Amino acid sequence: MISGFNTIPGASKLKITDLRFAKITGAPMDCIMIKVMTNSELVGYGEIRDWSSPSYGLMLKSRLIGENPLNIDKLFRRIKQFGGVSRQAGGVCGVELALWDIAGKFYGIPIYQMLGGKFRDKVRVYSDTDIEGKPEGKKMGAALKKRMDLGFTFLKMDWGVETLLAMDEKGVLNAPLGYVEDLKSAHDYRDYFYTEREKFNRGYDVINIAHSFTGLQITEKGYDVLEQYLKEVRSVIGPEIPLAIDHCGHIGITECIKLAKRAEKYNIAWLEDLLPWQLTDAYKRLAASIAVPLATGEDIYLKEGFRPLLESGALGVIHPDLLSSGGIMETKKIGDMAQDYGIAMAIHMAETPIAALAAAHLAIATENFLALEFHSVDVPWWDDLVMTATKPIINNGFIELSNAPGLGIESLNDDVIRAHTDPHQKDIWASTDEWNNDCSHDRLWS
Ligand SMILES: [Mg+2]
Repeated sequence: MISGFNTIPGASKLKITDLRFAKITGAPMDCIMIKVMTNSELVGYGEIRDWSSPSYGLMLKSRLIGENPLNIDKLFRRIKQFGGVSRQAGGVCGVELALWDIAGKFYGIPIYQMLGGKFRDKVRVYSDTDIEGKPEGKKMGAALKKRMDLGFTFLKMDWGVETLLAMDEKGVLNAPLGYVEDLKSAHDYRDYFYTEREKFNRGYDVINIAHSFTGLQITEKGYDVLEQYLKEVRSVIGPEIPLAIDHCGHIGITECIKLAKRAEKYNIAWLEDLLPWQLTDAYKRLAASIAVPLATGEDIYLKEGFRPLLESGALGVIHPDLLSSGGIMETKKIGDMAQDYGIAMAIHMAETPIAALAAAHLAIATENFLALEFHSVDVPWWDDLVMTATKPIINNGFIELSNAPGLGIESLNDDVIRAHTDPHQKDIWASTDEWNNDCSHDRLWS
């Protein structure tokens, strides 16, 4: 041993032995927490993207068993071929998070330190807010005001076609006759997966018609109603707090321009996913036609997916989700690349404290970070899913990380996890040995 250095033995002997999961519902999303286990007491916590499938992670297990979990980048490059856009990337990203957690615990340092250290002491969280029943601007304003009273300094809400549908007003939408009714009946299609598969399939088809192909337009009355809604929201929350907008609906670019113009004078932080992220040229045209920042990114996998949009100059903000974008290090690279183009990074997040803390480590260590999403203000047990040194995890609208190693999660709270387990799962952390020997020739060239 060299004098003055504190060396840690055993790094070369560490091996991955198992990968297990627990799927919960009502967080408010369906969420899949994972454990990557080793031949030591070290366990890494990770998470597969919300509303997705454990199989995206389980298919990676046989590619990881016997490998050293400290070789994070090597293993990420080995498994990244099995990730795709949006939810398909969930397994690759979830495993990557768990590997960072193991490395942090092994070396006794927090993940943000391994990423280069802090740009800030606490992470700004923005609160995405829904309201029950018929949408009214004042009611949405009051719900957002409550978030402000809790300390949130940045807000988001939905505004667009869904708002008009839920208002049930006549004469606000224009579409091939019958489509609006189809859209309404498809709204809760996921609820029918286990009970009425045909209804689920019909709803899936309607919901997945892409923006330009719906033929849907908003009428002048519809735009007036939406602008009035926004005006009422601002009258309650005031002009000073940033307000982002999401879920505008599947409308073509001309409608996007008209909708955005109605939002221009209300200081909107960004309009999110107005068009499919793949349509770079359309984004460019949209950005040139309006004066509201555009954001997209929650379904983009890997930094190369972000590059064309960044080069186009169309975005005001990128909005990756760590559980789709490639995990912690890839998203750090994405954030740094956006910075080179003068663009801020907000982070999409709709999962458990595992994903939230992973995002917070990244956010603390990335200079152009703006705000991290949070959907679970109204889920009282969200915070109790994990044991951490600092509670609550989100305090006064910010996450402050301790210097605990890895993600900073001491343990998971199995009682709370079990109380919210998906009824279609046998048990939490059950054996996944059937995935141990899934062998294939994974080489990407010959
Ligand atoms: Mg979104």
